Amino acid sequence: MRKSARVVVIGGGIAGCSTLYHLTQEDWSDVMLLERNELTSGTTWHSAAQVTNFGMNQTMVGLKTHSINLYRELSEDPDYPINYHHADGGIRLANTEKQMDGYRHFTSMARGMDVHFEVIDAEECARRHPLISTDNLVGGLWDPLDGDIDPAQLCQALARRARKAGAEVHRNTPVTGLRQLPDDSWVVSTDKGDIHAGIVVNACGYRVNEVGAMMGVHHPVMSMEHQYFLTEEIPAIRDAGHRMPLLRCPISDYYCRQEKNGLLVGFYEQDCKTWGMDGIDPNFVNALCPDDLDRVTDVLEGAFARMPALMETGIHTVVNGPITYTIDGAPLVGPIPGKRNAFCIIGLRAGLGEGGGHGWLLAQQIVHGEACYDTWVTDPRRFTGHANVELTALKAIEDYQNEFRFHFPHEHRPAGRPAKTTPLTPVLAAEGAAFGTVNGWERMEFIKPDPDFHEDYGYHFNNVFDVVASEVATVQDRVGLTEVSGFNRFELTGADVDVFLDRIICGRVPRKAGRVGLGYLLNHQGMLKSEATIARLPDGRVWYGSAAAAEYHDMDWLQAHLRSDEDVQIRSLTNEHTILVLAGPRARDVMSAVSRADWSATAFPWLHVRECFIGIAPAVVMSVSFSGELAYEIHVPNNQLYAAWLALRRAGADHGMGLFGSRAVDSMRLEKGYLHWKAEILTEFDPFETGLGRFVDMAKTGFIGQDALHTRQADGPRKQLVTLHLESDDAPAQGGASVMQHGKVVGTVTSGDFGHRTGMNLAMAFVEPGLAVAGQRLEVDVVGVLVGCTVTAPGPYDPQNSRVRG
Ligand SMILES: Cc1cc2nc3c(=O)[nH]c(=O)nc-3n(C[C@H](O)[C@H](O)[C@H](O)COP(=O)(O)OP(=O)(O)OC[C@H]3O[C@@H](n4cnc5c(N)ncnc54)[C@H](O)[C@@H]3O)c2cc1C
Repeated sequence: MRKSARVVVIGGGIAGCSTLYHLTQEDWSDVMLLERNELTSGTTWHSAAQVTNFGMNQTMVGLKTHSINLYRELSEDPDYPINYHHADGGIRLANTEKQMDGYRHFTSMARGMDVHFEVIDAEECARRHPLISTDNLVGGLWDPLDGDIDPAQLCQALARRARKAGAEVHRNTPVTGLRQLPDDSWVVSTDKGDIHAGIVVNACGYRVNEVGAMMGVHHPVMSMEHQYFLTEEIPAIRDAGHRMPLLRCPISDYYCRQEKNGLLVGFYEQDCKTWGMDGIDPNFVNALCPDDLDRVTDVLEGAFARMPALMETGIHTVVNGPITYTIDGAPLVGPIPGKRNAFCIIGLRAGLGEGGGHGWLLAQQIVHGEACYDTWVTDPRRFTGHANVELTALKAIEDYQNEFRFHFPHEHRPAGRPAKTTPLTPVLAAEGAAFGTVNGWERMEFIKPDPDFHEDYGYHFNNVFDVVASEVATVQDRVGLTEVSGFNRFELTGADVDVFLDRIICGRVPRKAGRVGLGYLLNHQGMLKSEATIARLPDGRVWYGSAAAAEYHDMDWLQAHLRSDEDVQIRSLTNEHTILVLAGPRARDVMSAVSRADWSATAFPWLHVRECFIGIAPAVVMSVSFSGELAYEIHVPNNQLYAAWLALRRAGADHGMGLFGSRAVDSMRLEKGYLHWKAEILTEFDPFETGLGRFVDMAKTGFIGQDALHTRQADGPRKQLVTLHLESDDAPAQGGASVMQHGKVVGTVTSGDFGHRTGMNLAMAFVEPGLAVAGQRLEVDVVGVLVGCTVTAPGPYDPQNSRVRG
């Protein structure tokens, strides 16, 4: 066994084997895998091992496509072919038109990844899967490439190829300790001795937190017991002449695939059970939990009703094993927050289908610092301080119970809420706020018109449309007040702050106290990493503000790029302060009523910051606007937030003030062409492609990503962000929807909404550069309907910015 390796991967299930193999594909051969028992002896060995192409976003679809292509190649290996039933096809059923709308949207989204789902009616479902009844069935989503694979053969094949490329695989070698050295490398302890590792990867399945504890980390991953059974032979299958497609049922939450000439049926019961919360028996190896089919009777009935043949068939085997879940159902694949040279590939609940792709994207992140797709949807840093064991358990249970029921747009499920609140949360609730969540924070979306109001979730404009229109009108005509909970803020101090900011931000950084500017952070490939509002306060303090979800992500990036000899201190204020936003033409009058400072446009113009009092509450106020109206962002310490709120509410009464929520903001920011991090600001595009060229200063030297950006600029854009005006008032274009021309996909929508001030149904999209011309006619596939649209100048509302200047 080597005494050192560039990377040590811990765990030999599909996650570890795929990571190891893909590292060797990146030409890193000084890598090793340590497995405490035999390969696949965790969850992988007993997996139902279905491999599907379905995902809710393009990253998931893309990585699953990689799995499918890789598995097919392995199955065709002339020396070591593995068993893979490729392209049996699969159906996700639906019994409501709303679910069908979701499938229409996912079909539009997947087409942009060259993946061709099909939305089919109930009769067609039954034609393709002859065992199912069409009772209470509207139709389904057809996924042509679905199949299943032999999990043990798959892992052995990946390990074999990795070994051939120079990697070492050590079975029966439990990792017993992890220690980080001052140079950020690791000592990995095993009962066979220590190994010095440049980088470690936690791929330990349900034992993730045993290994996490060795490095002082708790990962928000929880195991659930999960069961399937295998039936005796079913004559209709034997005689069908083709393999049965996979089946997934969101009506009763079961799945089903062919196994020999019978069926394998798995269940996601309501009466579900967490596993291993209080520790895992060290001898639980190649093991199963006790069968308990009584627990699944609720879903069993649904499966029997859909496939009556099941009632006449014997069950010969039941499998009940631990399966891992996270807080939002997606795994954690990428850098471990707060740690250097440590990665994880954990929380996989569909690891056989996804594992090939996750290992591929993780290896890219380890070797290049970034993957070919934006990986935020699986980034371990998307959950922050609130993601403890209790919250994870509640969300895991909720997710398990809704396994095949996707979230509708704007749907936020109730388990584990509220997790993060501000002192104003109960006040807003009393005002009638409807909340969503952002990184665990309760965030006001809109004010309900009456206490019993419930949003009718779906893909079309719904009963919130008029509510948002009225909040926008308040902001446009008079003045509105809202809270932005959890907005991420760091305070930077020290003698080298300017040097540091100049290096991490690609544009000009405000130098004078009292000024505010928007800055963009690039990665080493010259792609967009993050967006920050930089505010210069007196005494050399700088406030760095970014999206609520970016707290751990941005902190890691800043810390990682701080040089050891630089005098810069970074302190998080995120949990100490909350932002109130006052917006609208009368905002200045309200500010003048609550604060003794001079709020005239000359004394405090657009893009400035000052410290003052709001009533008796100390505040940092910035004249910045995400709505396109005259606006003030008021940062108040949480212990005086309510006092500031009351002062503003009272003063606002004289000026027709109303409340507005994040949905109104979303609508207004699209009309202004303002971007959202991880909707438009992605690691897949550079600032020029994203229309942010004015925020890049190529003349300044030494910012991160500059060399790569030079090359990219010379090569010209691959895609260009545009604003589209859709000719339909029926539905917004959702992120991921395909932009089409002459039947071909020419772009992808990043976000869409109705602009109430312009009366335009707007979307932003990355399209082929030749089409990024005002007036260009295109189409968007909006929930299955090709809607005509025109490229318009970005920010159609008040393009001169006269309103923000007030
Ligand atoms: C009943 C059931 C059905 C399923 N069906 C499907 C399906 O149809 N399709 C699908 O895609 N997914 C399915 N899954 C999920 C899938 O099986 C898992 O997502 C996947 O196997 C997880 O792989 P892993 O490598 O993350 O974890 P594991 O397979 O558990 O591997 C982790 C490895 O780490 C090792 N390890 C732990 N601690 C240490 C240590 N200290 N030192 C060294 N090694 C260590 C373990 O021994 C283990 O081998 C199913 C799961 C279950 C339970």
